[in-house]
Amino acid sequence: MTNFSRRNFLKAVGIGGAATVAGFGCAPNGRATASRNGHVVVVGGGSGGATAAKYLKRFSPDMDVTLIEPTATYHTCYGSNWVLGGHAQMDDIAQTYDALQSRHGVKVVQDSVTAIDPARRTVRTAGGETISYDRLVMSPGIDFRYDAVPGITEADSGRIPHAWKAGEQTVILRRQLEAMPDGGVFVMVAPGNPFRCPPGPYERASMVAHYFKQAKPRSKIIILDNKENFSKQGLFMAGWEQHYGDMIEWVPSSRGGQVEEIDAANLTAISDGGFNEFKADVLNYVPPQTAGKIAMDTGLAGDGFWCPVNQMTFESTIHPGIYVIGDSSVAGAMPKSGHSANNQAKVAAAAIIRELAGLDPVEPSTANTCYSLITPDHAISVAAVYAYKDGTMAGVEGAGGVSPADAPASVRQMEAVYTKGWYDGITADIWG
Ligand SMILES: Cc1cc2nc3c(=O)[nH]c(=O)nc-3n(C[C@H](O)[C@H](O)[C@H](O)COP(=O)(O)OP(=O)(O)OC[C@H]3O[C@@H](n4cnc5c(N)ncnc54)[C@H](O)[C@@H]3O)c2cc1C
Repeated sequence: MTNFSRRNFLKAVGIGGAATVAGFGCAPNGRATASRNGHVVVVGGGSGGATAAKYLKRFSPDMDVTLIEPTATYHTCYGSNWVLGGHAQMDDIAQTYDALQSRHGVKVVQDSVTAIDPARRTVRTAGGETISYDRLVMSPGIDFRYDAVPGITEADSGRIPHAWKAGEQTVILRRQLEAMPDGGVFVMVAPGNPFRCPPGPYERASMVAHYFKQAKPRSKIIILDNKENFSKQGLFMAGWEQHYGDMIEWVPSSRGGQVEEIDAANLTAISDGGFNEFKADVLNYVPPQTAGKIAMDTGLAGDGFWCPVNQMTFESTIHPGIYVIGDSSVAGAMPKSGHSANNQAKVAAAAIIRELAGLDPVEPSTANTCYSLITPDHAISVAAVYAYKDGTMAGVEGAGGVSPADAPASVRQMEAVYTKGWYDGITADIWG
């Protein structure tokens, strides 16, 4: 489970589970204290950033930690597919920063970072503040490459939502699905690798099918994919057939799923040099992705789309003193997920504390779990453990796995219960 105790956390990042670890005094309340104070600024209060801010304070209470995040309420992407399927409401996926401030002593600044000066170690905000840091943690999530496919721009996202950042976009897509007539066609264009949440498009199709089955059973779902296979594919496809018959059609690249153009005015996705046209009643185009804009603007991705880091610490290999975690980072075999971001944040927090205390970093071990609902009572999961090896976070052989293919309904139902337990656990660990 994600809600690590401090002891498990220290074990997980390799500092050791003993009461006293080199360079750290252990305060009577059991919390480690760093040997020197410092000011760490965290950019982004999502899965990675909020975890980093909380754990920096938890393990080094005398450290000054400032979290900069533009929104007062963060909506988790996890659970947003449940909202699209009518299985949850927006309030169910809303998180605030109250506990980070009042319980953990994080200074939360509701603002957006517009520029970073890695040489001077300062950040500028839209509100006009310049804030100095000793170390900077960046977890700005993703942005979109709308220039990858002609015929659509970001300005179209009000009519053709991506809903790949939860919040207003989720609400737009849900309303469109509600307004769609029975017998309509929902077309989703899945993003190319690597992207945020590998099972996400297929859970989305499942949850929309769950809604259609009840509210508009003659409707159709088409997933256009530039891939030939996807996460938990066998389990998803068996679940689709079992619950939704032929309502969901997955079109891989080899059968015309590679979208080459969007006719935004006519809600149509075009592939195979114009040979295939997929006309939608509701079009959900999820563009290819990059590291969050502020990371790109700061040059943290170099010539690429994602930010290279020393995977032992998550410190940028381009700008020393800046740690990049979550979706924006290049993290070896770890997928871009909330669970990964949460684990990486703890690795970075420990590395920063050790560095400021004059200690060498330790080789981390992390984990990821992704649950997906096929119906509210049928869930599947994938889990993996990672360890630092030969300069990268590599999967540990024999650890983890996916749900069994031939499990009885009772197991699928229990996994649906665990799905909610995972959500409650990880959100408490991040924002609680
Ligand atoms: C449909 C869907 C389903 C998913 N389901 C799961 C799941 O079941 N399990 C799972 O583990 N993961 C899931 N994910 C993935 C998960 O949501 C992301 O991988 C995770 O949120 C990444 O964390 P992050 O901190 O990198 O980015 P985010 O959580 O997106 O946080 C980024 C934050 O940075 C802020 N920000 C951006 N720019 C600036 C700036 N300039 N200044 C200040 N702040 C800024 C943003 O406002 C945002 O709050 C899902 C994703 C999707 C789209």
